Amino acid sequence: MRLPRVVIVGAGFGGLAAASALGGSPVEVTLVDRENFHTFTPLLYQVATSGLAPDDIAPNVRGIVQRHANVEARMATVEGVDLEARHVLLDRGPSIPYDHLVLAAGTVSSDFGIPGVARHAWPLKTLDDAVRLRSTVLRRFEEAHADPSRVDDGTLSFVVAGGGPTGVELCGALAELFDNVLAKDFKRLDVSRARVVLVEMSDHLLGPFSSASRHEARVQLELRGVEVRTGARITSVSADGVTLDNGSTIAARTVVWATGVKANPLGASLGLPTTHRGELEVGSDLTVGGRPEISVIGDLAAAGPRAGEAYPQLAPVAIQGGRYTARRILDVESGRASRPFRYVDKGIMATIGRRSAVAELPFGIRIGGTLGWLSWLGLHLVSLIGFRNRAVVLVDWSWNYMTWDRGNRVILEPAGDR
Ligand SMILES: Cc1cc2nc3c(=O)[nH]c(=O)nc-3n(C[C@H](O)[C@H](O)[C@H](O)COP(=O)(O)OP(=O)(O)OC[C@H]3O[C@@H](n4cnc5c(N)ncnc54)[C@H](O)[C@@H]3O)c2cc1C
Repeated sequence: MRLPRVVIVGAGFGGLAAASALGGSPVEVTLVDRENFHTFTPLLYQVATSGLAPDDIAPNVRGIVQRHANVEARMATVEGVDLEARHVLLDRGPSIPYDHLVLAAGTVSSDFGIPGVARHAWPLKTLDDAVRLRSTVLRRFEEAHADPSRVDDGTLSFVVAGGGPTGVELCGALAELFDNVLAKDFKRLDVSRARVVLVEMSDHLLGPFSSASRHEARVQLELRGVEVRTGARITSVSADGVTLDNGSTIAARTVVWATGVKANPLGASLGLPTTHRGELEVGSDLTVGGRPEISVIGDLAAAGPRAGEAYPQLAPVAIQGGRYTARRILDVESGRASRPFRYVDKGIMATIGRRSAVAELPFGIRIGGTLGWLSWLGLHLVSLIGFRNRAVVLVDWSWNYMTWDRGNRVILEPAGDR
């Protein structure tokens, strides 16, 4: 008798959790991703700032699932789904039939329609983005070294848009990279003239955090020399910098778009119910459109505890959704009833830099400073997939901490037109 076929689209946090939870069960799983690696997004900013190498945070998908005899990885881009024939359509090779489909394709960068963002700003969403950004930052210093007069035109000015955890973490890491490493690399350049400017539309950084954590983040960033501009909206981006809603401009050759993602357009292309933001509207069992054979998890799903409330777009939500969906599929196959999905919130964290992080845990517990930083390091280390990655990251972090160095300063990309 043929085993039920489960196709999972996306080997991100949600898809991998579902595939791993189905490992060893009486189902045949195909895990499809356009990349051959899983991206550990919380550490992308460390790749962009030379703290970690790309491979350290991107384990190979085949390597992750190879221990499960019933899970097969497939590298391909999913271009659509034939809902009636129950086939997933790929950009290469034959389509894949399914009995259960799990959609976990996440989000893509969004420019919110702001002029110049798509052309001139650097996104930080994928591993490729992080490597390109690292090369751009290092190249700007090379350009300023070759012609110091270029510092005046913003060559050493870096604007980061978005004061959420990614923007805060990136700004702290950039400031530390400049002060602790590049100032020594570029001895004849006045690196103290390099600027990191964080622009946030709302009145405070770290929106979902308490006011104490927001305040701590701001103080710590400013201590590192980051210029924090809250209550300022970027209205356009050009090759020379950004314009703000009050009409002022900031000259900067490098603008990083650390804000704004939108649902992967694959979701809306399927003809299933979506929100106005393009996420698929799921029920309490994470299935969509009255089709019990199709589940949506992670950032692509509009799921929440109650109607009108949404779970945050975080890795733990995707992971828990993946595990829940794996259990539900096995329940369906064995005729058992399933309970609704419920996200268990274990807290949120953001790091600002060396010995500085904020963490908000359940029951109103808040930690900051060195203790917050150690908790952040520990949690991210154990969350990384694979012993090798954990060991390499631990060595790199220990090296960076003891020597104040960043060992991954390779310029890989050709010079672009930005
Ligand atoms: C820079 C950054 C930092 C973040 N930091 C944190 C953090 O510190 N803590 C936290 O909890 N969350 C963080 N997040 C959010 C977190 O990454 C997401 O909530 C989480 O990744 C969602 O998981 P997912 O499985 O839905 O999607 P993803 O993990 O994004 O995975 C989607 C997968 O689908 C694949 N894919 C997409 N389209 C296709 C297609 N058409 N065909 C085949 N494959 C496809 C992609 O290659 C990807 O592997 C961060 C996000 C970013 C961008």
